[in-house]
Amino acid sequence: MDKIYGIDLGTTNSCISVLKDGRPHTIPVDGNGIVPSVVSLDKENLLVGRVAANRAAAFPEQSVRSVKRLMGTTEKLKLGKKDYDPEDISAMILRYLCDEAGKIEGGDIDRVVITVPAYFSDAQRRATMEAGKRAGLTVERIVNEPTAAALFYDQVKIASTDAAPVHREDAGYVLVYDLGGGTFDVSVLRMGEIIEVMASTGDTHLGGDDFDRRIVTRIMRQIKEKDDIDLNDHVPALARLAGVAEKTKITLSENAVARVNETHIPAPGKKTCTVSMEFSREELEKMTEDLVDRTIVCVEKAMDEAKLTPDKIDRVLLVGGMTRMPVIVSRIEQIFGAARMPVVDPDLSVANGAAIQGGIISGENCEQILVDVTPHTLSLEVLSDEDYTLQCTPIIPRNTQIPATRARMFGTVVHNQETVRLNVYQGESTDPDENTLIGKTELKLAKAEADCPIVVEYSYDLNGIVHLIAEQKGYSRKTEIRIDSRNPQPVSQNLSEIEDGEWYEEDEPEAEARAINFVTQRANTLIAKIEDKAKKKLLSDALARYEKALKDDDGDIDGIEDELLSLIEENAEENAEEN
Ligand code: AMP
Repeated sequence: MDKIYGIDLGTTNSCISVLKDGRPHTIPVDGNGIVPSVVSLDKENLLVGRVAANRAAAFPEQSVRSVKRLMGTTEKLKLGKKDYDPEDISAMILRYLCDEAGKIEGGDIDRVVITVPAYFSDAQRRATMEAGKRAGLTVERIVNEPTAAALFYDQVKIASTDAAPVHREDAGYVLVYDLGGGTFDVSVLRMGEIIEVMASTGDTHLGGDDFDRRIVTRIMRQIKEKDDIDLNDHVPALARLAGVAEKTKITLSENAVARVNETHIPAPGKKTCTVSMEFSREELEKMTEDLVDRTIVCVEKAMDEAKLTPDKIDRVLLVGGMTRMPVIVSRIEQIFGAARMPVVDPDLSVANGAAIQGGIISGENCEQILVDVTPHTLSLEVLSDEDYTLQCTPIIPRNTQIPATRARMFGTVVHNQETVRLNVYQGESTDPDENTLIGKTELKLAKAEADCPIVVEYSYDLNGIVHLIAEQKGYSRKTEIRIDSRNPQPVSQNLSEIEDGEWYEEDEPEAEARAINFVTQRANTLIAKIEDKAKKKLLSDALARYEKALKDDDGDIDGIEDELLSLIEENAEENAEEN
């Protein structure tokens, strides 16, 4: 089939939708379209979806839930005798969704758009792409979940006004608060002629599962107090109680009180135990207040990043099953007011938005154009001019609209430098230790003066994948890497000599001028810093000799420069140590 399907590959549930006659439709896989993201092994057979979720309660050791939390890691998941990658498990869920939807739709599904939390790293995005590939699908685009939700909301708004023209000039700002089973995202979008993501932030390890765990802990404490049975590390009991806790939490969204009456809970030593207790909504809210607080901190951060105050937000969209919890609605209402919260289906809007994005790609009649942003700053590790320490300098700042290509020019540090180390970091700090190293390579250099220009270009594509190209300008040396998410080493490194002038014009005079400038600048910075008078004088004299040699076009300029450079290195090291 030519259509592109939209898939919300959720931590707890997944969903598949498609655009028909300009409107998104959820395909009722597993009855209502909300498919548990669970895989379970039954003898030889791998089950997916609702049947797997039912089986998982009784056979947790032969089942996998919440695999989304492991995407981008190298963790292995055991099912029976076989080990699986997180990508394999996600691929099974994707395959199941497409097979079942294909049966309903009457044809094979091949092309898909898959959503991910806006805060997913490159590794997690690449793992999601890989899962699609392993499912035999063509992944046309990876889209941020809040962006998809906003796209759906915008489309619904058009439909509900009988396709009356939308006054896009004053369409305003939308905040999407998405709390699912395992991840939390908040984004601020500008709903103009194009939908622009102004800020997005979140927490990939915060979701409904954390709320459930608080209830499980409370139940286990009760069992310990009553029967002195410790269920802490007993997997079958934990799986059973996780299900009980989730039911309790959901009941408390509708009712003020929920009763837990469980018998035959598996316990160590082939024993079983029972529990009977009551939870009030108030109790649950108290037990999980800090989790809700964490989401509110992210909301404030997103507002700060978008440079907006709450009164400037026209609509707040609540997405993800957890937003059915009344306390979440009331906390958000306290900030933005109830009038600004339209009712959108928290379970289906992301997949429906992905279907709209699929429609846009395949050229169907949709008005919106999607603009997305980089969720993290992508930087390069460089030697600081100031104090000679290694620091991250941004190439593509966070929240840059994608696809984006940005280049920056750097200089080599010493005369005839042999290589340049290129370490690509993701994160907001200037300190490399506080960021994540996502890829590295080396550029082998042709012999050149110090401060020879090195151009480093990053491209960030619509799927959030990073490509780096670095080139020694004027010397035809180039290296490229693609970054492998599952192994933080380059997957392909390709150092190539290219024809002179193919990329950049030969520009040695400019390189030479920059090199001289760099050396004198470094010397001057150090002279100002050094306290030891003798060392200060030695360096000042060497600099004066260098400047005179430059002026007189002295034949031994290289020797004088080498002398100055070794003094600079010596003093720089000492100075860095003292710092
Ligand atoms: P999602 O990842 O968006 O499918 O959201 C799944 C999460 O929402 C799970 O933690 C569910 O337990 C939770 N959830 C679903 N419905 C409700 C409800 N009515 N009240 C509270 N939490 C809910």
